[in-house]
Parts: sequence; structure tokens; C-alpha cells
Amino acid sequence: MQKEQRTFIAVKPDGVKRALVGEIIKRFEQKGYKLIAMKMLDVTPEMAQKHYGEHIGKPFYPRLIEYIQSGPIVAMVWKGYNVIAGCRQLMGSTRPEEAQVGTIRADYALVQEYNVVHGSDSEASAEREIAIYFDESEICDEYQNMAEIVDVRLDD
Ligand code: UDP
Ligand code: MG
Repeated sequence: MQKEQRTFIAVKPDGVKRALVGEIIKRFEQKGYKLIAMKMLDVTPEMAQKHYGEHIGKPFYPRLIEYIQSGPIVAMVWKGYNVIAGCRQLMGSTRPEEAQVGTIRADYALVQEYNVVHGSDSEASAEREIAIYFDESEICDEYQNMAEIVDVRLDD
């Protein structure tokens, strides 16, 4: 059965400052995922705390909260078959030195503290994170992308 999912992806402030927005979007587009929402914004302290609530109390938390507010992010919602795990695969491991060559973090990041991209890690995280950054009215899921126009059918 097809597993159609949504995920929250963000180009983090270092990715925006390094002009990697287009490159990062290109990788998800070329994979075949469908972009259904996107905006640039400055993350507020409230958004930062909600987004990274699971990391409160960890040694890196204060720096993470500072980092995510250190410049605008480009927030996106992507949709597709197994998009959550697929985007994590294209992003690579949190630690760039452990990420596979060819992934975004291996190719563009030096250290885990500044790893250029965020992606949700589960369906529950995805829906929680989408709701922090987007109103459902901002999500453009009506149009057909090429995969849908071609009407790809997978075996059950
Ligand atoms: N992070 C960090 N030091 C660590 C672990 C994580 O600075 O030891 C930062 C890094 O930016 C990472 C984010 O906190 O992307 C969230 O951590 P998580 O373990 O959720 O990694 P991710 O899901 O982003 O791969
Ligand atoms: Mg995470």
C-alpha cells in the first residue's frame, strides 16, 4: 500500500546565509516529492522552544535555540510516498562526518551544530512541526505534480 505522508523541512539560518536554499530544494524536487508549502521567516523564541522541545535540558539546547534564530529560515512542507524517511535519507546523519557522501549534510556541512537543514523524524513530529510554522490554509495541496499526472501506480 502506498504510504503518502507530509513532512516539515527547513533550510536553517546557515543554509540561507550560504545561499544553499535552491540546492536543498532541488534535491527534494528531483527525488520526486511534492512541495506543498514554503515561506521565509524569522523564528520567534516561542517557535524555537516548541520546535525543539524534545531537546530541553540537553547541553546543546541553548546554542540550538540561538542558532535557529540567528537568521531567517526557509520553512517548507513536502508530500509524497515515504517522504519522512526519504527526506531524512537525502539530508544525511545529524553529524556531517557520519553522513553518507552525496547527502546534503555530508556535502555542505562541517559540524553537527550547523548542519544546514531540518527534517521531521516521524509522522507525529511532522504534524506537530507543520502546525508550528503553517496554518492549514497556507498549504497548497490542490495542484497535481508530474508524478500524479503520470499516475504512478505501485504494486501492493
Ligand atoms: N544538535 C547539536 N548538537 C548535538 C545534537 C544536535 O547542536 O549534539 C543540533 C543540530 O543542529 C541538530 C539539532 O540539534 O540538527 C536537532 O538534533 P536532532 O538530534 O533532533 O538531529 P536532527 O533530527 O536534526 O538530525
Ligand atoms: Mg530531530
